Amino acid sequence: MRSNTLAQLFAAALLSVAATGCADAPADLSEIESADPSADSVSDDESGLDEGDSSEFVDKASCGGRWQVPGDVSDAGDGMSVPYQGAGRRCQGGPTSGAEALGRYIRSAFPGEVNTSVDGRGIQIYACRNIRGGNSLSVHATGRAIDVFIPTRGGAADNGKGDRVANWLIENADRIGIQMLIWDRTIWKASGGTPRDRCYQGSHPHNDHVHVEISEDAADMNTPFFNGDSGAAPGASDGPADSPQAPGDSGSPLNRNAWVGDACRSNNDCAFSTDAGEGRCFLDHEPSSGLGFCTVSCAGYCPDRSGKAVTFCVGGSMLGANGGLCVSKAAGANDYCSSPGGFTAVEAERYIGGSSARSATAEVCLPSGG
Ligand SMILES: [Zn+2]
Repeated sequence: MRSNTLAQLFAAALLSVAATGCADAPADLSEIESADPSADSVSDDESGLDEGDSSEFVDKASCGGRWQVPGDVSDAGDGMSVPYQGAGRRCQGGPTSGAEALGRYIRSAFPGEVNTSVDGRGIQIYACRNIRGGNSLSVHATGRAIDVFIPTRGGAADNGKGDRVANWLIENADRIGIQMLIWDRTIWKASGGTPRDRCYQGSHPHNDHVHVEISEDAADMNTPFFNGDSGAAPGASDGPADSPQAPGDSGSPLNRNAWVGDACRSNNDCAFSTDAGEGRCFLDHEPSSGLGFCTVSCAGYCPDRSGKAVTFCVGGSMLGANGGLCVSKAAGANDYCSSPGGFTAVEAERYIGGSSARSATAEVCLPSGG
């Protein structure tokens, strides 16, 4: 499924040391197995939730005040189905590209929610380890589980923040490929019976992070979210600051929803902001068409946005510039670099700069000719 070079595996192993070194390393699904079996439980980590009749007791005794999925979100989630895929038997060597992309996306789409002071700037994925209290692998060992850290509030889950992330994940579970998440003592699965959410009784209350598991298809970026579908970006209903900023000077932008890779004539056409800085129009290659593309500087990673092609960090030297530049990957969203016109699909190596990103290549869209 994934072929890693030895160097990549080695780099991933180094990363995993950092990830597992965190004292708050996440609990995961199978911690439920170690919970008191007389209470609400999951019979095993792949068979879905036990639909026993003890949940009411548990909700009152142990789960009072746990996160409640809002009715409209719950209803949306009930109509989705993403089969649960367990961890298997072997560590996969590093984070999957889908988990990395989704983690970066969440961090850029929820800048007021993610606790970026935690290792991994608030996003932790790969850890080659067993589940706590168990002898089978955690889904973190497959690189398909993401912990999204949320600052606590008085030691408790900050529902004003974490709920936004969790709600958005449920609302978009099918198009992203979310098979399960845990937040604030509630576990939600995109398969099995309804309601999809239940009390989570693992030893970690998940008050400081949302544990998110994605499907193997999502890990391989083969779901609509990663291929430029037009689903709702967060902010449509939940309100995180993700809307394009108003242009700072006069003139009508080509595209008010501009993002990395979109065509531009001036910086005014790239009125968006990311963790990595403000969008700008790259014209240094002096295109005869007068059209450049929106970009931000990068080292290793680039931000992604729902509905847009996944991005990739390439060396600016390919275009006569210094450092790294974010560009679009060839994807359905840009008709494999044929829309807008003037671009060509080119195989490019990742610009790593000072980051710990693994080396990689991708097919990206670069301006054709001069
Ligand atoms: Zn986790």
